[in-house]
Amino acid sequence: MLKLFDSFSLKKKDFVPFQKNLVKIFICGPTLYDYTHIGHARIFLIYDLLCRLLHENGYATDVLVNMTDINQNVFKKAKENSEDYSTISRFYSYQFINDLHLLNVTSINRFAHVSDFVTNMEEQISNLMKQNIAYSANGNIYLDTSKVKDYGAMSKQSKEQLNLHRLDIGPHKKSQDDIMLWNCSEDFGFYWDSQFGKGIPWWHMQDSAVAIENFGRNYDIHGGARELSYPHHEAHFAQYKLLTASDNPVKFWTHVGLVLSNGEKMSKSLGNVVWARDVVNRYGQNLLRLYIFSAHYHKDIDFTERSLLAMKPLLEKLYLSSSKASDRTDKEMTVLIENFFNSLNDDLNSQKALEILDKICSYVINGNNLGADDFVRICRVLGIKL
Ligand SMILES: [Zn+2]
Repeated sequence: MLKLFDSFSLKKKDFVPFQKNLVKIFICGPTLYDYTHIGHARIFLIYDLLCRLLHENGYATDVLVNMTDINQNVFKKAKENSEDYSTISRFYSYQFINDLHLLNVTSINRFAHVSDFVTNMEEQISNLMKQNIAYSANGNIYLDTSKVKDYGAMSKQSKEQLNLHRLDIGPHKKSQDDIMLWNCSEDFGFYWDSQFGKGIPWWHMQDSAVAIENFGRNYDIHGGARELSYPHHEAHFAQYKLLTASDNPVKFWTHVGLVLSNGEKMSKSLGNVVWARDVVNRYGQNLLRLYIFSAHYHKDIDFTERSLLAMKPLLEKLYLSSSKASDRTDKEMTVLIENFFNSLNDDLNSQKALEILDKICSYVINGNNLGADDFVRICRVLGIKL
C-alpha cells in the first residue's frame, strides 16, 4: 500500500482515495508565457511517477492541470508582441503539451485554460460575498482571512506571522494579508466584464473555480511546487472549503522541492534557465528521468550537467540488463523487485528505488535471471523507454 506524506497534517499516511478505484489529482500548472524549464519538468515527472505507481497498484487516475492564461506576465508578453493574450497563451499551451510529450509524461488527461472558467470565478466570488467572507474595497474584492477558520494551517503560520505579509495592497483593504479575488484594474490592457465591473479574476480564485468545475466537491491529491504553499495553496484551500461547505475536500497536499541551476534559483536575468526540451533533445528523456528520480521529491536539487551525467552508468546498466532479460525471475531477484516497489510505495522514495535498481541490474549482468515481465514493470513505472 502507498504511504504518502501530507504536507497539511505533516504526517505520512496510508493512501486511501475518496472513491474506491479512482484517484483524482490536481496539479498547479504553468503560466503560459514561456517554455517548460527543468523545475516545471520535475513537478510533472514526479506526478507522472506517482500516477504510474498508482496504476501499478490497481488504481485509475484522473489528473487535472490548470494552465494560467490570466496573468500579468502573459498580458505583458502579449502587449510586447501586439497580440491578444489568448494568442500568446494558446501558443505556450501547445508548447507545454509538446514538452510533456518529450518528457514521456502520459498521465495527465485534463488540461484547463483558466480563462474558460471566468464565469465560474465570478459566481464563486459572489457566493463568498454573500457568505460575508469576501468584501469589496475600492472596486477590488478580497477574501477576509480573519473570518476563515484555521487560516494559516496550510503554511503553519500564526495570526501574527500572517499579518506580516503585504499582499496585493489597495485602498481600504481590511488586513494586509487578505487575499485578492478580483482586481478591478484596467491597466493590464486586458479585462473581463462582470457583475463587479470590469477587471481580472485574481490568481488564487482561478484554481478554486477550475477544481470545482472539474472535480466537484473533493479530490484526493493537490500537487505543486513547495514555494506555492503560501499564499497560493493556503488561499485555494480556504476558498475551496468555503465553496464546497466541506472541512476536508482534499485528502493529501503534496509539495515538490525546487530545482536550482548551478547553485542559484533559475531566472532569465541570471541567464541560468534550463529548458526541459533542450535537455531531452541533447541527453534523452530516460537520463533526465533517472536524474530527477535520483533525489527524493521533498528535497531541493541543484541541476548541473555533471549531476545529470552521473546517472549515465545506471542507464547503461539498464540497457545492458534489458538485453539479458530472461523468461523467469530468480527468488532473490523477486525480493529485490519487491523492495524496489516498496520503496516507491514509501512516500515515493525514488532515490532508494534507484539504488535497488542499480543492484538489480548488477545481478542481471552477473548472470541472475530477471523475467522480461518484471523488467517491463520496472521500466513502465519509471517511464523509461527502451
Ligand atoms: Zn495553482
